[in-house]
Amino acid sequence: MNDFPGSAPASAIGALLADLGDIPVVTDASVVRKRSRDFFWYSPILNEALAGKSADLIATPRDEADVIRVAAACARHRVPLTVRAGGTGNYGQAVPLHGGVLLDITALSAIEWTRPGAIRVGVGAMMNAIDAQTQPSGWELRMHPSTKRTATIGGFVAGGSGGIGSITYGGLREAGNILAARVVTLEEQPRVIELRGDAAQKVNRAYGTTGIITALEMPLAPAWTWIEMVVVFDDFLDAAQFGYEAALSDGIVKKLLSPVAWPIPSYFGALKQYCPEGKSVLIAMVAEPSVESFRTLLGDRGEITFAAPADDSTGRVPLYEYTWNHTTLQVLKAGRSVTYLQCLYPHDRLIESVRQMQEMFPDEVLPHLEFIRFGGRVTCSGLPVVRYRDADRLNEIIALHEENDVFIANPHVYTVEDGSRYKRADADQLGFKHEVDPYGLLNPGKMRSFVPVAD
Ligand SMILES: Cc1cc2nc3c(=O)[nH]c(=O)nc-3n(C[C@H](O)[C@H](O)[C@H](O)COP(=O)(O)OP(=O)(O)OC[C@H]3O[C@@H](n4cnc5c(N)ncnc54)[C@H](O)[C@@H]3O)c2cc1C
Repeated sequence: MNDFPGSAPASAIGALLADLGDIPVVTDASVVRKRSRDFFWYSPILNEALAGKSADLIATPRDEADVIRVAAACARHRVPLTVRAGGTGNYGQAVPLHGGVLLDITALSAIEWTRPGAIRVGVGAMMNAIDAQTQPSGWELRMHPSTKRTATIGGFVAGGSGGIGSITYGGLREAGNILAARVVTLEEQPRVIELRGDAAQKVNRAYGTTGIITALEMPLAPAWTWIEMVVVFDDFLDAAQFGYEAALSDGIVKKLLSPVAWPIPSYFGALKQYCPEGKSVLIAMVAEPSVESFRTLLGDRGEITFAAPADDSTGRVPLYEYTWNHTTLQVLKAGRSVTYLQCLYPHDRLIESVRQMQEMFPDEVLPHLEFIRFGGRVTCSGLPVVRYRDADRLNEIIALHEENDVFIANPHVYTVEDGSRYKRADADQLGFKHEVDPYGLLNPGKMRSFVPVAD
């Protein structure tokens, strides 16, 4: 049994188990503890704060009817429920703070339909499985995280923000990037609600606190033959400047532009042979017909040391697994003395701001940028690798960024509010939570502004 404050009493867990009937459950404490973790260990602060947190049991619904049955039982016995999908979240998003049920949603993975430009799919579908299904007909997901091969579409919508493809389409939050979501409420008689258009944002990046998503309708993009490339530069700011120019070149069709400062590429394992000592790199994915224009734009400013058609089928390691938060992972493989930040640079003085931060923390905050569209403008986010000293210094680095207009979405906190640049809950999401989770049982503790009125 869980002994954290607010956890469900053993009697409630026993009664709940009896109500679950033939729905597969796991109660072995060591298995449940292992599955109650995600990638929060990237943060030394969260690693300490979340150590030992665990669900009481795992329930594995086979279909939406099972989800409704688990939700009803949790509401009836006032037992917390936390959804887990691929378990690749970074901020303890899928870690139950107050025990209860860990709902393994991955079996809901069927594709309902596809049509040109759109797909409707069960939330547990892995994103590489979706692309594998749609690419032969010329379509693919508009964007995916660098965890595409291990993460689900539902986990991306509920916990992620953007990724490979966001240079063209912006983040998940942009209008049109989630078409609809089907949601099960956490009530004694659960309802199934279809959220269409902007209303689907009520479940975007809410960490599963605003309903259990069972299906999603997502827009698709034309599937190109993507050429992945490593371009090397003498100086990091040259890589950043070229990345910016390529990002602004609307005629060059691209999916990824990721400048990474030396010495980070020295940790790039199999890619190291293409990353010469002392050079910074830009990792890119460019549509095959645009490669010539990309090379022309580059001129003799940098050297392309690797270029090949992208392939993320089984057994291959795509270059995007050196970008976004995989960049941090490549360095963490060599030791836990580093961590990272999530920055958004001011779009009107982008390269100057990147330069300023680089000069402010030499050898301590190692730059890594991701060019994206944000609110219709080209800008870049950064996931710099930080040599970790202690929490005070980390907070000082965050404050110095913010003082200089570089927004930080803090990855060292586990609540929806503290991890956002606005530091408050989205009003729509908070209101919707009152409607769908009156007892506050969905991933409790993650939306700190929420105070349940029902008991
Ligand atoms: C190496 C690495 C690289 C990453 N790169 C990126 C990146 O490029 N972009 C990015 O946005 N993120 C990134 N992430 C974070 C994470 O991988 C993605 O957000 C991913 O899409 C999460 O999917 P998942 O299936 O693993 O979800 P999980 O980790 O299982 O869940 C994530 C959150 O969503 C909730 N949830 C999951 N499914 C549902 C559902 N059906 N209904 C309600 N709530 C649900 C969970 O409770 C949890 O709060 C990265 C993480 C790592 C470790």
